[in-house]
Amino acid sequence: MPQQIFELVQAPNSKPATADGGVLRAMVRGDMCVGCGTCVAACPEPGAITLRGKLAVVDDALCQGHGECVRGCPVGAISVTTGSAVNRVQVPLIDDQFETNVPGLFIVGELGGRGLIKNAINEGKMAIEGVARSLPPGAVRTDGDADTVDVAIVGSGPAGLSAGLEALRCGLSYVILEQGSLSDTVRKYPRHKLLLAEPVHIPLYGDLWIADASKETLLQVWETIVANTGLQVQTQQRVETVVREDGVFRIQTPDGVHRARRVVLAMGRRGTPRRLGVPGEELAKVFYDIVEMEAFAGRRVLVVGGGDSAVESALGLANQKGTEVILSYRAQAFSRIKERNQAKLQRLIDTGRVRTMLGSTVREIRNDVAVLEYNGETTILPNDHVVIRIGGDAPFAFLERLGVRIVEKDVPLPPDQARAG
Ligand SMILES: Cc1cc2nc3c(=O)[nH]c(=O)nc-3n(C[C@H](O)[C@H](O)[C@H](O)COP(=O)(O)OP(=O)(O)OC[C@H]3O[C@@H](n4cnc5c(N)ncnc54)[C@H](O)[C@@H]3O)c2cc1C
Ligand code: SF4
Repeated sequence: MPQQIFELVQAPNSKPATADGGVLRAMVRGDMCVGCGTCVAACPEPGAITLRGKLAVVDDALCQGHGECVRGCPVGAISVTTGSAVNRVQVPLIDDQFETNVPGLFIVGELGGRGLIKNAINEGKMAIEGVARSLPPGAVRTDGDADTVDVAIVGSGPAGLSAGLEALRCGLSYVILEQGSLSDTVRKYPRHKLLLAEPVHIPLYGDLWIADASKETLLQVWETIVANTGLQVQTQQRVETVVREDGVFRIQTPDGVHRARRVVLAMGRRGTPRRLGVPGEELAKVFYDIVEMEAFAGRRVLVVGGGDSAVESALGLANQKGTEVILSYRAQAFSRIKERNQAKLQRLIDTGRVRTMLGSTVREIRNDVAVLEYNGETTILPNDHVVIRIGGDAPFAFLERLGVRIVEKDVPLPPDQARAG
């Protein structure tokens, strides 16, 4: 289950009506939906949400307002409302230049509450245009030391890369810090297709327009742009803390400290998952969240973890056609999970759709197997994917530590986009 940066309306639950008598229904924003179908797979009511072409469509008569689709949607296109056509969302407070209440700290892309690749690219570019206006390239800076860069960009997704290219184009000194590989979120899409519905301008490159291209195509485009422009991206550099001191930011990574006059956070909304720290964890078969359960149909999946998120992943996967699910947990019992999950898990264990390995520890992940320590022995499990759900650091907690104000706002949904169907 992806981490949502904002709660859409109320915590979705199985009650169809709110205290004021309003009936909860799912609504899809037609301008944001990318037609991935995650919501269709997540919805427990057959036919309540279906795909028509590239758009998810809700059938009001069948929708029970459970909200499973809200949690599943990777771009925040669905809300569950009482019909007042209003989204109540939590977002970091930013001005029209993408600057937060912390002077010099900017937030762009999905972290700011807007999904889609094109928005991320546009915002990364626009934020740096603002930075360049406040820090004229070539001007002598008296703050900081010689190693202080004009701007530090955290994240190398579409927003961070676009910001970096604009910084390069404007002649600003910069550093780009990425916790994983280049454009890690896109790289980890479980499915291959993606959509950029209209051309988007990329600094130092020009217009990019991909329709129904594969993620590999987009990654290849990014890699070519990075190689051709000489853009420097420091990968495997997780930003742990950002602190503002005397007008200059100190950005801490496991390998050291960077100093910057401005910081652009382009970290997306998936946060920083906790890792097992075992060999092979960097393989493409390893996931830290699942946005498209059906992409795992017919595969052999090892889920690692013992909390609700691990168990819910195992439950969702077990409901896919032909998927074999093994749930590995290092303790001897699932003691921390919700009763509802406990009961569902037990049913799937009893019917043989989930196998648990309690008291097991993953030692290594290889292309075609996972190696575990289980009952004092080394066990080799042939498998296709490993899903690691052992907690992590949510991006909003990171922002709050930085002093960024988070606000709630009501976003009215235009009637033509509010409910497709
Ligand atoms: C399955 C799926 C399908 C999608 N399909 C489409 C589609 O077809 N069309 C479309 O327009 N959009 C699609 N989206 C949405 C799109 O991917 C996002 O809106 C877009 O990637 C947001 O870009 P971003 O740069 O803001 O964040 P991200 O792409 O999430 O990039 C954030 C980067 O920051 C890094 N990071 C995070 N924390 C730290 C840290 N502490 N230190 C250093 N680095 C950090 C991450 O590793 C990541 O590389 C899809 C999303 C998913 C999950
Ligand atoms: S999960 Fe979101 S983006 Fe995907 S089809 Fe459903 S509404 Fe559209």
